[in-house]
Amino acid sequence: MGALSTAETGQRERSYLHAEVETMPREQLAQLQLERLRATVANAYENVPLHRQRLEAAGMRPADLRSLEDVERLPFTVKTDLRDHYPFGMFARPQGELARLHASSGTTGKPTVVGYTLQDIGNWADLMARSLYSGGVRPGDVVHNAYGYGLFTGGLGAHYGAERLGAVVVPMSGGSTEKQVGLIMDFKARVLCATPSYALAIAEVALQQGVDLRKSGLRIGMFGAEPWSAAMRHEIEARIGLKAVDIYGLSEIMGPGVACECECQEGLHGWEDHFLFEVIDPESGKPVPEGQAGELVITTLTKQALPMLRYRTRDITRMTTARCDCGRTHARILRITGRNDDMLIIRGVNVYPSQIEAVLLTRPNLAPHYQLVVERKGILDDVRIEVEALPGVSADGFRAIARDVAHHIKSMIGISTDVMVQAPGTIPRSQGKAVRVRDLRPKEI
Ligand SMILES: [Zn+2]
Repeated sequence: MGALSTAETGQRERSYLHAEVETMPREQLAQLQLERLRATVANAYENVPLHRQRLEAAGMRPADLRSLEDVERLPFTVKTDLRDHYPFGMFARPQGELARLHASSGTTGKPTVVGYTLQDIGNWADLMARSLYSGGVRPGDVVHNAYGYGLFTGGLGAHYGAERLGAVVVPMSGGSTEKQVGLIMDFKARVLCATPSYALAIAEVALQQGVDLRKSGLRIGMFGAEPWSAAMRHEIEARIGLKAVDIYGLSEIMGPGVACECECQEGLHGWEDHFLFEVIDPESGKPVPEGQAGELVITTLTKQALPMLRYRTRDITRMTTARCDCGRTHARILRITGRNDDMLIIRGVNVYPSQIEAVLLTRPNLAPHYQLVVERKGILDDVRIEVEALPGVSADGFRAIARDVAHHIKSMIGISTDVMVQAPGTIPRSQGKAVRVRDLRPKEI
């Protein structure tokens, strides 16, 4: 464990779980990445027929990787590759060497299945522990884990990481929201792990029970698994009275803990000793200059069972390698604003739901619960925003609030919307990943 340099007043505490690697000079980190990239490509080439075929088609052999820039010569991998090779066709290890399987709930077709060796699980626990620590969690803290346990990677990912760190895990999973409130209070949880939308749902149920979570022991929220705006962060921090930390991951790459904010909260450190990050233009597939927005592409560097070469996450973000005040040298992913497939094209304007969320949360009298309904009216796409008023706001005022919201969305984002302000409690609450968009447009065939 890293030494605590108890700094003078006003300075940030600089302490790390894996000090040597978290503060490794970038040249040294790049050298480690290159060694591990070569080993990963060799693993994929030798053990996964799909990767071998694609590498051969690209005229690449593992020995051809001379510098990190050569990663751009590797073929991309996409989510449908996992579906097309369901269930185990992308695995680089035989069944006898696997320790665990997880799967995503495919809304259409087959789920995507991911596998881990015992060493993969160990690395995941380490990275999740490192992520929790960088967010401010410490050994001995009671960690209330409200991520869903099961095939979804959120629950077990946070669980193993918290245990590895030396925290005390409460394996609550999602649901039974009233009970969650009771246990948070009784066990004096310091940390809440949940999706941001479920954290809000817990806070709301607490208030209905007469419990103000701002007076609870909660100090840190480790929130992820869905994109959320900065405005939503402020809302959650104000309602629960904790520091809301953004954590990122995806099961195809590992699960939660691929990247996490430090206490500076100025971007999520992507753990570059285990992953190689790129940002590309989603149209051309070419890298974009540092700091420019594009699609996040990740190559795993240590995964045994499921090595991933240039996996296209469809998450849109920007990255920076500028040194962070915390002293960590790992590059930062600047908040994920949305996923390419969440992007709505409304009358020719590209819109992310998080942009609408950001506007909603700046308006007075509104609760942070909303849904976007997209319909086709004639040949045009039509967006209806259903949002809740705060308790105590009179129904007579709903129309005026709706007009105000529509006006601000038009001026900030440039699209016309129908806004329906509804009574408190009307919008369905999530217990995991929130459903923010209901797209009722006819599916294109
Ligand atoms: Zn930092």
